[in-house]
Amino acid sequence: MYKEFGIDDKIIEYGKKIEAKLEERFKAIDEVAEYNQLKVIAAMQKNKVSVECFNTATGYGYDDVGRDTLEHIYADVFHTEDALVRPQITCGTHALALALMSNLRPGDELLSPVGKPYDTLEEVIGIRPSKGSLAEYGITYAQVDLLENGDFDFDGIRNAINDKTKLVTIQRSKGYASRPTLSVERIGQLISFIKEIKPDVICMVDNCYGEFVEKIEPSDVGADMIVGSLIKNPGGGLAPIGGYIAGKKECIENAAYRLTSPGLGKEVGASLGVMQSFYQGLFFAPTVVASALKTAVFAANVFENLGYKVIPNSTESRHDIIQAIEFNKPEGLIKFCEGIQAAAPVDSYVTPEPWDMPGYDDQVIMAAGAFVQGSSIELSADGPLREPYTAFFQGGLTWYHGKLGILMGLQKLCDANLVMDMQL
Ligand SMILES: *Cc1c(COP(=O)(O)O)cnc(C)c1O
Repeated sequence: MYKEFGIDDKIIEYGKKIEAKLEERFKAIDEVAEYNQLKVIAAMQKNKVSVECFNTATGYGYDDVGRDTLEHIYADVFHTEDALVRPQITCGTHALALALMSNLRPGDELLSPVGKPYDTLEEVIGIRPSKGSLAEYGITYAQVDLLENGDFDFDGIRNAINDKTKLVTIQRSKGYASRPTLSVERIGQLISFIKEIKPDVICMVDNCYGEFVEKIEPSDVGADMIVGSLIKNPGGGLAPIGGYIAGKKECIENAAYRLTSPGLGKEVGASLGVMQSFYQGLFFAPTVVASALKTAVFAANVFENLGYKVIPNSTESRHDIIQAIEFNKPEGLIKFCEGIQAAAPVDSYVTPEPWDMPGYDDQVIMAAGAFVQGSSIELSADGPLREPYTAFFQGGLTWYHGKLGILMGLQKLCDANLVMDMQL
């Protein structure tokens, strides 16, 4: 079958050789998935999920049982007091903006102790001027970068925390930066350090791409709020839209009053028939995340062995589903994305091209042939057209699709004579 996809024998054989070395890694990934699968089922049983939960609610959505039960399930899975899980939260950026804007007030300061946040948050915060940003509302922003070696700059963080510091945002995943992703354990250390200096500060974690990668989540190590997108990990590939915030009751209440209206909060917001996909997606999420992780580990090994810099490297432990590969040339990034596209079940016949994407500073190329548009728990690759021409790829609803994508990417690079190494 691989040959029918135009993949050469030498690449098929190379892939086999790499896969054979990964048995132990894959076993460890499956073990985490098994644990998280049981965690999700236990939460669904505890909350007595019934077919009634999948009914469509319309209009105001008062007493939307499916919506309310799902929010209890999210709170139980993440061990938080409450959660907001809604189709009205349109994406991850929206969820993060909502969490920030609802919990900060004019005169407060927001601190990122882990360097520059994800590109789209620059406009939310006002690092790049934008209408409606936190900066426009008189909320200031401070940032402490990670040290050269990736460690937290504890002295810098201590100095940056002041009377105004109200909320600390910690991004778990690397996003479009070449820094290591933070393990949940490291996030816990950072939160403890910050809370020792200022106990009442709200610690929020941007959990995008991190859910179910480990057995614990940032909310298990002191985070007051964790935030993410349902078209990434926790939607399991089935949720067609949505975002979540899970955390302390007060934080969630603030977010709900901002999402709908003061006074209305969580009581309104009809679920419009998407509930079954939210439930079933959450049910699938642990194994879907495992497939994405296997794909990422496989890719790291395939490309590192050929001399490319890959982050994380071939042996490092994983704390999110993102794999970065530095192609050093625009053509390398573009060819890899073409391969991912050509392996897709949807839109495999189109050729991705760089474009000026809203919210991003540089041109971005994106490859995805997804059932849910823009879903990045489905196999997808993207990267800004800037040095060192890094492809950030993630996802794979099934490991076999992920593997096909990586082999297709390598094939396209070989066809364009961009692979110099004679390992093949
Ligand atoms: C994807 C992502 C976001 C933004 O989510 P969108 O759904 O694309 O708006 C924010 N932070 C991180 C770390 C992400 O990976």
